[in-house]
Amino acid sequence: MALSRLENLYRAVILDHTSHPRNFGVLEEANGRIELNNPTCGDVIQLHVLVEGDRITKARFSGHGCSISTASASMMTEVVIGKTPKEAQQLIGEFLLLVQGKLPADQEADLGDASMLSGVQKFPARIKCATLSWKALERILLKQQESGMEISLEKEDLADD
Ligand code: ZN
Repeated sequence: MALSRLENLYRAVILDHTSHPRNFGVLEEANGRIELNNPTCGDVIQLHVLVEGDRITKARFSGHGCSISTASASMMTEVVIGKTPKEAQQLIGEFLLLVQGKLPADQEADLGDASMLSGVQKFPARIKCATLSWKALERILLKQQESGMEISLEKEDLADD
């Protein structure tokens, strides 16, 4: 079956994020860090976030993962930089719906390039690859909220859910 023009466009954008990931690297000044693993695929991501005032001012990721997890992390950092933690949590929720095919179409634009990962809903085994970086951010934001202070690098495996 031939890919539609839209699917070809989506594929091109995803490939671009995979081969030229945005915000890749380490953020020395981060006040939130986490390492999250996806054992089903072998993806490992270290996410570094700087929250200043009420905004996420910087986000960077490192680690190694498949093309979907890398593209998703790149897209995630692009869309959350400049947002408040609350706005970012809203976007995380929207992305988790997107990959299950449950996000209303009129909300897809909120997610920027990440909306192009909607096709992953057809490949359930890859959904965790796509959500890894978003769940990493969610954990950082929740812990910052709970503690009201800096959190250090923790290693966790992505549980089945
Ligand atoms: Zn993966």
